[in-house]
Amino acid sequence: MSMQVKSYEEMLENVNCSLCGSNEYEVVYPPQYEKAKPGNIIETFRSSGDEVLIDQLVRCRKCGLQYLNPRLRQEVILEGYSGGSDETFVSQIAGRERTFARSLDLIERLVPQKGKILDIGTAGGSFLGVASKRGWDVIGCEPSRWLAEWGSKHYNITVHAGTVFNMQFKESTFDVVTLWDVLEHTPDPKAVLKECNRILKPGGILVVNYPDIGASVARLMGRKWVFLLSVHLYYFTVKTIAEMLKTTDFDIIMRKKHWQTLELGYIFSRMQAYVSGLARLGGKIVSALGMEKALIPYWVGQSLVIARRPK
Ligand SMILES: [Zn+2]
Repeated sequence: MSMQVKSYEEMLENVNCSLCGSNEYEVVYPPQYEKAKPGNIIETFRSSGDEVLIDQLVRCRKCGLQYLNPRLRQEVILEGYSGGSDETFVSQIAGRERTFARSLDLIERLVPQKGKILDIGTAGGSFLGVASKRGWDVIGCEPSRWLAEWGSKHYNITVHAGTVFNMQFKESTFDVVTLWDVLEHTPDPKAVLKECNRILKPGGILVVNYPDIGASVARLMGRKWVFLLSVHLYYFTVKTIAEMLKTTDFDIIMRKKHWQTLELGYIFSRMQAYVSGLARLGGKIVSALGMEKALIPYWVGQSLVIARRPK
């Protein structure tokens, strides 16, 4: 693949609000194009991508949705996701499996009969691997060809390389559709949710988690909030995710904080970008104590919403 470009700004496009279609906005954070690495877009779009936000963050004047604008052109984003490998992501599967086991406890209280489940943007397939062992009929899609293949082999499950739109599922196919840390990455979240609604059975369950920019911790951290990343194109709040789900014909049935689990050493390595001295010191102590692999639950604004396609 060749992604030779002269400058970052050349790869940008203006977009309207995905929720209400308006093009009137106010700037929340101005861009930091001087930090861009235009030759390295694939690295930016690894699933574990942690490039600090350089694009402009805006808020729609009409509906309040926050999103990147201008942003990288859609074809650049998709090409970025489909290529490259992601060993960093794969190295963290123990924590992910633990998080997903707890999530499945919750889902199985709502859907005890364990039918067909689709995970969109499944990355290395950890959620589906855990679900498959517990008796679910699982299928996944993932734009990264490398991760899709890795997940298929590692968990012995079906993960198609591509987006949900490439799959052309029949309508009313699934009992559960999940979007784990995915919706905020998609170029058109409203279109994704509409497609989820179409392929869910009536009464079927949609599970979405997202980083909530309206959460107290996000407001407190401001520009240093850990989820302000170049790969996150949308920044939902309780209000805008509710509006997004309502407009795509879902009924919200549950909302809660979503604690995730990561290895302690990895948490410190991710902190380097924000508080480098403290993170380096913390990393050394953790290493000296042999605790790099310790699994730590953490919450910095991740929210979980469960919604139902009406019967
Ligand atoms: Zn809007």
